Amino acid sequence: MASLVREWAGIQQFPAATQTKLLELLGNLKQENVNTLTILVMGKGGVGKSSTLNSIIGERVVAAGAFQAEAPRPVMISRSRAGFTLNIIDTPGLVEAGYVNDQALDLIKRFLLNKTIDVLLYVDRLDVYRVDNLDSQIVKAITNAFGKQIWRRGIVVLTHAQMSPPDGLSYEEYSSKRSAAVVKVVRQGAQMKKSEFKRTPIPHVLVENSGRCNKNESDEKILPNGTAWISDLVQTITEIVLRGGQSIFVDKELIEGPNPNERGKLFIPLLLAFQVSYFFKDFYLYCNVITPFAPQKKLYP
Ligand code: GDP
Ligand code: MG
Repeated sequence: MASLVREWAGIQQFPAATQTKLLELLGNLKQENVNTLTILVMGKGGVGKSSTLNSIIGERVVAAGAFQAEAPRPVMISRSRAGFTLNIIDTPGLVEAGYVNDQALDLIKRFLLNKTIDVLLYVDRLDVYRVDNLDSQIVKAITNAFGKQIWRRGIVVLTHAQMSPPDGLSYEEYSSKRSAAVVKVVRQGAQMKKSEFKRTPIPHVLVENSGRCNKNESDEKILPNGTAWISDLVQTITEIVLRGGQSIFVDKELIEGPNPNERGKLFIPLLLAFQVSYFFKDFYLYCNVITPFAPQKKLYP
């Protein structure tokens, strides 16, 4: 189904300072011949995925709300501006009744057939104090579905960032601890070694979708630490795209084939068989050619 690409009118809703920054960032992408960006938004239900999409687009395009039943299917919103097309794919939460919902993930995969994912926004909340086994299960499920490569284009997005930290912690202390905890769970679930993570770290961005978000003198929405978060988020998105690495093209094989992380492992038995046959060839040569008269003596003294 071809989705309708509308003019990105919502960008004009942003204060002038944000608009200037966003256009500059889109200009950086166009300079590198990136004219389309497809962003996939995933995470648990109720963490602020749809609200974050609405915040980026600058319009209330997808339903978001505490008592809002989630749309059961993914939806792609496309907007274009000065020859640049932004696609954002909102997805239903990946958890149901305390478990990762494999059917929801399957539905997302099928929706993505023949699409290219440039960036993955993995959304969670900043004001939740612990990560648990379920978080790890979700990351593993995403990794199994799309391959660990997807995390090279991944950003951890933490919503509800206008909050007061508990236990007398400063905002900086609290937000960096919570971000580090979520990023760690992602790194581990993505099977990323520490050295790999050092080369291509997974960035995190704090977000406050609420209408009551504080603003600076330029009318931009800011976090308690003063960061204008909309341009910060878009900047991180452009940086991760320009950092290089492959976008993920979702083909039939990715959807129906084996776990993309296991694909290479299919060659292991083949390689082993090859090595064993080589060994026997050498052994045969050794017995018959190199030492034609005394093989047994050497082998069975
Ligand atoms: P989704 O299920 O992940 O798509 O979450 P929604 O975007 O529908 O958000 C769930 C609820 O959280 C809604 O009531 C939103 O208004 C609220 N919400 C989302 N993001 C934020 C945020 O950054 N700050 C605050 N205060 N509320 C948020
Ligand atoms: Mg939603």
